[in-house]
Amino acid sequence: MTDTYEVYAVKYAHHSPRTAAMNFIGGDPHQASQALDFYVWVVTNKDRTIVVDTGFDEAMAKRRERQIMKPVAEALKAAGFAPDKVGDVIITHLHYDHSGNYDAFPNARYHLQDCEMDFATGRCMCDEKMRVAFEADDVTALVRKVYAGRVTYHDGEDQVAPGITVHHIGGHSKGLQAVRVRTARGDVVLASDASHLYENLEQNKVFPITYNADDAIKGYAKLKALAPSLKHIVPGHDPQVLERYPAPTSALKGWVAKLDVEPSA
Ligand SMILES: [Zn+2]
Ligand SMILES: [Zn+2]
Repeated sequence: MTDTYEVYAVKYAHHSPRTAAMNFIGGDPHQASQALDFYVWVVTNKDRTIVVDTGFDEAMAKRRERQIMKPVAEALKAAGFAPDKVGDVIITHLHYDHSGNYDAFPNARYHLQDCEMDFATGRCMCDEKMRVAFEADDVTALVRKVYAGRVTYHDGEDQVAPGITVHHIGGHSKGLQAVRVRTARGDVVLASDASHLYENLEQNKVFPITYNADDAIKGYAKLKALAPSLKHIVPGHDPQVLERYPAPTSALKGWVAKLDVEPSA
């Protein structure tokens, strides 16, 4: 058994153009800003393959006006990861872009923070603004997995497998968790939406969809405390990830990045 992993970001969708007001609280609605890429992440070694988040599908992309580049299951297969061989899926939070494609991993156990399910099924969802990034079908699908005995809940910091831990961050969604993975270059922290872009984390600029802005800012400090350096934190939606990290092969360039090697910046 080994507790060191390779880690990959797999881009499946894109959203542009975006303004500063769409990316940061207080951002100028007239100022152009960073596009968002949508990723799922793969953590793998000879013993196990874990997927972090499950993305959304074509129907959701149309409804929410996002552009799918490669459907998630197809993208994973093309990158060499068979979805039916995935043993565990970590859901960082239940937003539509992280918890769709819920039938794509038939043999996986799902991992979620207690308070994210409480949040996604509780009284906050009575408010339209709070539920804007959630989809009832995604949440219901995970409830069904609870009843099928396929969910493990975590409360705060916990180990999913040797070398892989989850860490409650909150802020953006009440039960958001980041994932820390041991790699050959040290611990890599998958921030997911604890920091959409490098700019959120580096300048404490909070993304506008936020359950609690104070927790989001504390979350930036927590990510930094979890990682050996800023270069070990991978934001959840930044197109820069594909520029800073190499592709594992030339065929995968532009949509798969290898995160267990040093980035260029
Ligand atoms: Zn989110
Ligand atoms: Zn997201």
